[in-house]
Amino acid sequence: MAPTTEPKPDPCTTCGACCAAFRVDFHVSELEDAQGRGVPKDMTVMVTRTLVRMRDTDAAPPRCIALRGEVGRFAYCSIYDSRPSPCHDFAPYAPLGLGDDACTRARARHGLKPLGDERSV
Ligand code: SF4
Ligand code: SF4
Repeated sequence: MAPTTEPKPDPCTTCGACCAAFRVDFHVSELEDAQGRGVPKDMTVMVTRTLVRMRDTDAAPPRCIALRGEVGRFAYCSIYDSRPSPCHDFAPYAPLGLGDDACTRARARHGLKPLGDERSV
């Protein structure tokens, strides 16, 4: 039987709040290798000998250098296929409309309602 409703759009494509809310740190082994696979080095800063940070995620206010667009309207990661593990792991069901605490906190910082909660402001 054919579906009677259109699938809901991915809310992350009109959000991007988490990319402009938290520090994004990860292990140096995720940086691009000789074949160019991995997180682009010029978008990162070294924190320690083994820890790397996405550039500008510790700015005030934070905004990852790889984020494009406008938070809350249209946003995307310019290195999506090479993004580091914290980004892979963040709120994995958000694209389906199911946020979690971290997603809700990120959205709140930008005046956005929690996913799936039409009652809040
Ligand atoms: S995971 Fe949450 S905060 Fe991040 S882009 Fe998606 S909806 Fe926004
Ligand atoms: S690397 Fe991409 S997904 Fe990760 S914080 Fe930056 S813009 Fe967001």
